[in-house]
Amino acid sequence: MIILAVESSCDETSVAILKDGKEVLSHVVLSQIDIHKLYGGVVPEIASRNHVAHVTKVFNEAITNANIDIKDIDLVAVTKGPGLIGSLLVGINAATAFAFAHNKPIIGVNHLIGHIYASSIENEMKFPLLALLVSGGHTELIYMKDHFDFKIIGSTLDDAVGEAYDKVARTLGLSYPGGPVVDRLAKEGKDTYDLPRVTLEKDSYDFSFSGLKSAVINKVHNLNQKGEEVNINDMCASFQNSVIDVLISKTKLAAENFKVKQIILAGGVAANKSLRERIFNEVEGYEIVIPSFKYCTDNAAMIAAAAFEQIKHEEPTHNYLVKGFSTKDEY
Ligand code: ATP
Ligand code: MG
Ligand code: FE
Repeated sequence: MIILAVESSCDETSVAILKDGKEVLSHVVLSQIDIHKLYGGVVPEIASRNHVAHVTKVFNEAITNANIDIKDIDLVAVTKGPGLIGSLLVGINAATAFAFAHNKPIIGVNHLIGHIYASSIENEMKFPLLALLVSGGHTELIYMKDHFDFKIIGSTLDDAVGEAYDKVARTLGLSYPGGPVVDRLAKEGKDTYDLPRVTLEKDSYDFSFSGLKSAVINKVHNLNQKGEEVNINDMCASFQNSVIDVLISKTKLAAENFKVKQIILAGGVAANKSLRERIFNEVEGYEIVIPSFKYCTDNAAMIAAAAFEQIKHEEPTHNYLVKGFSTKDEY
């Protein structure tokens, strides 16, 4: 089964071709980060325009690299949401036009399910499992009894982890996206600033990161007012430790209570070196699966991997209206 997948929900234009959800025949990701960096975050209108400008080129490159004939493609998959409406529409229109022109069936894939199924490209998912989804817009603990059976057992009450990283980075005068920079600088620093670990009620699987973000902002302002220097590396290390302490304690609690076999890490923040290391070292008794860096942040390979499983639960269509197209968070 050869699947061509398209992802354009935010600021990456990506097309990938996978065989049986695992063999990556080609994987092209065009990131717009250098453009949005100038504005300190993703500008939706600019993102849509850049998808329009590059989507055809990315399609062609993916097909050429895969070294296949278009007639060998069995299915087209495309991210149907959640994401930026203008960005999503470019990918959906390109995918449906391609499917229509070549008479292929098409299926719409939820972006967050895509992040979860990134794990299935290089590893086998083993149920019951717990997914820790940490991305730019989401922070969730998801219990899966089986394929395509999702139960959100915890989520953030305010900021997503990636969002907190990006805002803390901005406060410290670091570039966008903040995650990779804070991750790198944290390695050079020490956890010297006293920052809160917000765990909410004792047995809650929910998260809250806005208090931590405000604590960093207040500390930086107070130090600035007193004319004292902020040690940026130490602030990054302190913030990152606080985030990861909370993520790990909630993951442990949920894994224990739900008696899972496997824990999978998903989403852009899963690229965080310290989170990857610490979850391996500190969460014992479960198989831990973390995708390669390139499958953590937005990419089309994860959409193809999810589609390969999704077709066992949902019929792809030939009518070229992507079912369930939505910017909402529902799975
Ligand atoms: P969503 O998937 O929730 O719709 P998104 O697609 O914008 O949001 P992703 O591409 O999954 O988010 O992840 C991007 C986020 O990951 C950004 O907030 C970025 O700062 C963060 N990130 C990337 N690399 C790292 C890292 N090494 N450490 C921490 N955060 C990181
Ligand atoms: Mg992105
Ligand atoms: Fe994402």
